[in-house]
Amino acid sequence: MIGSNIHTHTTFSDGKNTPEEMILAAVKTGFHTIGFSDHSYTPFDGSYCMKRENYDAYRAEILSLKERYKGRIDVLYGTEFDYYSPAELKEGFDYFIAGVHYIRAGGTYYAVDHCVEATLQGVNEGCGGDEKEYVRRYYENVVGCAALKPLYVAHFDLLTKFGVIDETTDFYRKTALEALDALLDADLPIEINTGAMARKKKDVPYPAKFLLERVAERDGCVILGSDCHNADYLDYAFDEALSRAKEAGVKNVVEYKNGKLLETE
Ligand SMILES: [Zn+2]
Ligand SMILES: [Zn+2]
Repeated sequence: MIGSNIHTHTTFSDGKNTPEEMILAAVKTGFHTIGFSDHSYTPFDGSYCMKRENYDAYRAEILSLKERYKGRIDVLYGTEFDYYSPAELKEGFDYFIAGVHYIRAGGTYYAVDHCVEATLQGVNEGCGGDEKEYVRRYYENVVGCAALKPLYVAHFDLLTKFGVIDETTDFYRKTALEALDALLDADLPIEINTGAMARKKKDVPYPAKFLLERVAERDGCVILGSDCHNADYLDYAFDEALSRAKEAGVKNVVEYKNGKLLETE
């Protein structure tokens, strides 16, 4: 059984619940560990991320909860670091995960997971209508995330969220597989992310089946994350994610326990 989730968001960024509400839900779920990964500040888009001036309060709050709940549940102080955030905003945490939420083209940042229109704008305005270019830029950033040395890279194929990008072309599959290989070469676990399922945007988790099959082929590891923005969905679709991993042939499932990534029992 999976007893942790370290990809969660609170009212410090775009989550619905306070950190303490999330901890209480995690205790109720029977988790041994919960990690907070509120979104790092991105200067060009304040709509979803932490405010720069709230970093101290976030730290103080999570560290005080860590103390208060010691012995009941391990509380981790983390962040989801956006590829385009200022570099120093990934320092000083128990851990950080990295994520690509934008592509940059012609000096403009186009949100990947905001809405259909923003994705289309990224393709049409940002990349002159060339979907290949959009895909190339997105996965280039994903590979760039590995160089930051995160605990893992979140939602590997987030660009598929709205069904705008054609995942069946040879170009798409080749580009995605090359990026996946780069993460596996860096020994990073691959996240099976159920966040878009919880929000009814997708009926399958990230990443797609052909990518999970590559993880299996390479004997890589997966880690589950619900990208939780609501305490009711802390372990949303974890059972389904596990059976999809198994179906794809993945043998190694890790989770965060006692300060490190361990094979799930
Ligand atoms: Zn994210
Ligand atoms: Zn997230």
